Formats: sequence, structure tokens, C-alpha cells
Amino acid sequence: AHLDRIGAVDEKVHAFLHVDTEGALAAAKTVDAKRAAGEKLGPLAGVPLALKDIFTTKGIPTTVGSKILEGWIPPYDATVTTRLKEAGVVILGKTNMDEFAMGSSTENSAYGPTGNPWDLTRIPGGSGGGSAAALAAFQAPLAIGTDTGGSIRQPAAVTGTVGVKPTYGGVSRYGMVAFSSSLDQGGPCARTVLDAALLHQTIAGYDPLDSTSINAPVPPVVEAARNGNVKGLRVGVVKEFGGEGYQAGVVQRFNEAVELLRELGAEIVELSCPSFDLALAAYYLIAPSECSSNLARFDGLRYGLRVGDNGTRSAEEVTALTREAGFGPEVKRRIMLGTYALSSGYYDAYYGSAQKVRTLITRDFERSFGQVDVIISPTTPTTAFPIGERADDPMAMYLADLCTIPANLAGNSAMSVPCGLAPEDGLPVGLQIIAPAMADDRLYRVGAAVE
Ligand code: GLN
Repeated sequence: AHLDRIGAVDEKVHAFLHVDTEGALAAAKTVDAKRAAGEKLGPLAGVPLALKDIFTTKGIPTTVGSKILEGWIPPYDATVTTRLKEAGVVILGKTNMDEFAMGSSTENSAYGPTGNPWDLTRIPGGSGGGSAAALAAFQAPLAIGTDTGGSIRQPAAVTGTVGVKPTYGGVSRYGMVAFSSSLDQGGPCARTVLDAALLHQTIAGYDPLDSTSINAPVPPVVEAARNGNVKGLRVGVVKEFGGEGYQAGVVQRFNEAVELLRELGAEIVELSCPSFDLALAAYYLIAPSECSSNLARFDGLRYGLRVGDNGTRSAEEVTALTREAGFGPEVKRRIMLGTYALSSGYYDAYYGSAQKVRTLITRDFERSFGQVDVIISPTTPTTAFPIGERADDPMAMYLADLCTIPANLAGNSAMSVPCGLAPEDGLPVGLQIIAPAMADDRLYRVGAAVE
């Protein structure tokens, strides 16, 4: 049924870069056979899923939304892919995304934009716009995204779906193409909080193949999603998440969510986190710096695209020609920014300062989590904007992640859950919930209460 739905609507939505009809049907049949044989199956066995095209899939193309990986077939599965397969999840295909996960609208995909199913002329968020759109268009009940600065939560917010960035280190990064390694985190996307929890539980947990994977039990996310009791919970509202630039309808729905939590017995505490105002600036030095190092591996020799290799050119020339043709403008912009920020003579002024700001943000969170159990905010300052509106204005695009970036810089867990439609445009609004590292279960408790 989901493959039929994809067939019927994906020409318009363009959530998928690759649909694996054969593989999906084979996986579903395997689950059926196991069920018929009386084998005990997990809760997600046989459930279809849309996988962001940043996770390697053995034998299935993985482009990361870039021309530079066009035609590359990975020889191995990411740990997330392996865990999904082991749980009997049926992978329907690979979803569209901003090239190398750099963007907030999916317009930076080398394969064309994805439409927001609520209004196809608007963006579905990014970089995981394909995964979020697949959920909102009922092409898949579950999806996987990655969140470096908001790419799970912001698409969830603007498509009326649920998205979770687990604690940094909570879900393995092995086989997840690296953008900014100290920030990147894979996580679940779904239409309900409980579905997200079941998926979270399936993909999370220690992986010896990822050196930053946390070797501790996965927080009890499914129990929390079933519980939803917020009585006595201390909920922080940060004054820096608000003010100029926030759409009236977004603020209205956020305030209603605050009132709802109060009615349900939560204690609302006002907080100030002064360093949050610097988060966006710090992020746009740290993420490009790490990307400039990570993307050095795309040299035209090892993977995918190779341009100009006619036997007369040097390896350096082939690398330069391949990168020129294979990387899009935003990726080039970030590689240049990052290379500059890491250069000797500039390192202390830019990268070094950004790292100090990162520490200040972490301290703001630590101080806050001494007083509250979770922090809430709007996920995004505005609802989905029209495709093209911010395409030529990187600064306007970067502002879409104003509220989501601090949690990445500190490594906390965070969720976006729908909290109604903005009255002025009828588009979905997301409530962001942030919890300390390894307290991901609190997200699900609060998410279940407000959903
Ligand atoms: N929009 C942010 C960026 O462009 C975040 C991307 C992400 O989380 N992958 O970097």
C-alpha cells in the first residue's frame, strides 16, 4: 500500500531519490514467513520506513543529495540500516535531502526540491525534507533523519510530524556520511510520539564501530511515550527563544502549549540563557570547519563521480574538476568558510572563539537543568516558507535553525512535536522540547502530554 501511495503522489512531492520496490517487497515477505513460522517478532517488524539518503545501504545507491556520489553503490550498511533490517523494518527507499545535509529547505539537493505536502509550493524543511514529507504525505509511517543543527526537528515542525534528535552519541554514526562529526546525530521521525519512541529504541544503543557512541543503556523512551504524565515536572521557558523575527501564530501556539502543560500539572519556570544569542554564529563556524575536513575525502578518486580522467591529467587536476562539477554552491561556500576559519592565523580568532562560545552555551544548559527538567520553545521562528523565498539569501535560510542549534552544540536530546496550526496561514507549528543528555525519555513524556 505504501509503495502504491509513493507511486501515486511522489511525482508531485518528490520525497524519494530512490525507491527500492524489490527490496521492500522481499523484506516484507521475509517478515511474513517468520510470522507464519511462529517466530517472535519485534514491534516494528513489517513496518515500512523511509531512510534519509545519508545512511549507507549495501547495494542501494546513496547520494547524500550530491552529484559527487551519483552512481556510488555502498559496499556496506550503516549501523542504523543494519538495526532496522534486523528488526524487520521494511526500507522503502532513500529520501531527498539538502546536499550533504547542508540546508534548511531541501532546495540544496542536487536532484531538485521536495514539496511540503501541506502546500506543495512551500518547503518541507531541511535538510531532512524528504523524510518529513514522506511522513506527511502518508508515503511511509516511519522515517529516519539526521540532525546537525536542526535537520530532524525543523522539517518535523513545518510538516506537522514528530522528530527527535537523540543525545549526541545515542545513535551510531557508523555509515552515516559525515558533515560535522561533533554535531551530527541520527534519529527517528514519525507521525506520533509513540511511533518515534519505538523507532528510537530500535536504532539507539552502543556501537563499537562509532568511537563517540555512548556505552550505556538506552533511556526508557517507549515507557515514557506511553506514560505522558507531566505532573510536577519543571518546564523551563528561555527568554532568548523569542522576540523579533518570530511569527505571531507560532508564538500564539507556543503560549497555548505552555498553558496546556501548566494545566496538566507542570511547573513553568522562566529562564535566561544569554549565550544562546551567539549559537547561530558559533555553529556557522564549527559546522563548516568540520565539513571542510570531512569532505576532503570526496576527491574524485575514491567514490562516485570522476571528471576529466582522460589519461593526460594529474590526480590534482582530476580532483579539482570533479569537485567543481560535483559539489553544489552551498557545499562549496561551507568548504571555503571552514578552510578559512581553520587556517593558521585565523584559527584562534574564528574556530577557537566559536569553541569557547560552545562551552558557554553548554554551561547555560547545565545551569538551567539545575532548575528545570526540560526546556521548551518554538521549534522554528516561522511556519514553512515558499520554495525559492530564501534560496539566494543564506543568512535568512540559516535563521530557520535559530532555536534548534543550541541543543546540538551542547549534545543534548531534543524533540519537535506538533502543537497546532498557525491561524494566519493554516500551516503546522512545532513545539521543541530539550532535555539533558541521556534523559531522552523526558522528551517523550512531555511530547505524549502535548500531542
Ligand atoms: N540547516 C542547518 C545547516 O544548514 C542544519 C543542517 C542539519 O542539521 N544537517 O547546517
